[in-house]
Amino acid sequence: SSELVNLLRSREYGLKIANEVNKESENIVKRLGRPVRIMNFCGTHEWTITHYGIRSLMSHNIELIPGPGCPVCITPGYYVDLLIDLSFNNYTVLTYGDAYKLPGTSGKKPRSLFQAASMGGRVKVIYSFTDAVKIATEKPSEKFVFFAVGFETTIPATAIPIFYRKVPDNLYVLIAYRYTPPVMKYLLINHPEVEIDGIIAPGHVSAIIGSESWRFLPEEFRIPVVVSGFEPIDVLTSIFLIVKMLNEGKPNLVNEYSRVVKPEGSTFVKEIMNRVHENVDSYWRGIGVIPGSGAKLRDPYKRLDILTHLGLEEKIVEDKLPGCICDKVVLGLAKPVDCPLFMKACKPQSPYGPCMVSSEGACRIWAENI
Ligand code: SF4
Repeated sequence: SSELVNLLRSREYGLKIANEVNKESENIVKRLGRPVRIMNFCGTHEWTITHYGIRSLMSHNIELIPGPGCPVCITPGYYVDLLIDLSFNNYTVLTYGDAYKLPGTSGKKPRSLFQAASMGGRVKVIYSFTDAVKIATEKPSEKFVFFAVGFETTIPATAIPIFYRKVPDNLYVLIAYRYTPPVMKYLLINHPEVEIDGIIAPGHVSAIIGSESWRFLPEEFRIPVVVSGFEPIDVLTSIFLIVKMLNEGKPNLVNEYSRVVKPEGSTFVKEIMNRVHENVDSYWRGIGVIPGSGAKLRDPYKRLDILTHLGLEEKIVEDKLPGCICDKVVLGLAKPVDCPLFMKACKPQSPYGPCMVSSEGACRIWAENI
């Protein structure tokens, strides 16, 4: 209700919580000899933090670090190259707007589907996979390929129609889906230098996979984690809960977003996702292969996979663009403003790197809200 939203955006209430966070963090800062570092996994949380100026409400005791929660930012450049090619070779590429300007691996034109479209490639921006099914059904003699980018939140959009065999024969998919818990694990194991003391786990993703999916963080890494909603008071409360757990030395999993997220998530959707996809090791743009982080269509549905259809193997191609540090931004190893190209050669209207393309990319969020 609007009353709830007003409460969740209340400045007065927000200032009170921020004050409590600052008090509660003093001891920890003394103990650590540095600010408390909390990673907000999700691009939408980063938007809330930046848009509502939550960083400025915190004393120097708290550092909020944007994390890997932008699926477009980590989508391999090789996929974009392949789709650009197909758009000039008898396929119409169907994509969400977010990935339209995502650069491929080459700096040369056309470097994105957007540029391919302007040069005569067949590319269409759509709003849902249902649109893709409709468009392909209406033109049975043409071939279409859908760019399936996203985390667990977006996977059901294709998995459900695929499972119920609602996808026409002339519509293929390029599965670029990635799973979120494996990247968090990868980051903690491979980059301890990020020094993460607490984690704000994604809300929408957890609505699908369940808050229990993050239990490994306190259990294996002794890091407190809060599954958070997206209003400013949600985020502030989550920060407070993390700081409190740190202070008490009792890392745990808390579900602040219980109005939407259940411990087990959506069991029905999870079941369908698992029946349609197998879990595979997958490459993240500029980062590397992360165990168990990707999806592949299982045998009965494989014919819809554009790679299988074309007889291609998944390739790993160098896709860091010269000068762009998006991979470091995604892993919390750098801030957008650390990039020399930020707001110079790379801006929201003319993005150079992947983190400036999507509305969930930290560079784009900082560029538009600071
Ligand atoms: Fe890459 Fe642009 Fe971000 Fe720099 S500002 S890291 S070039 S996306």
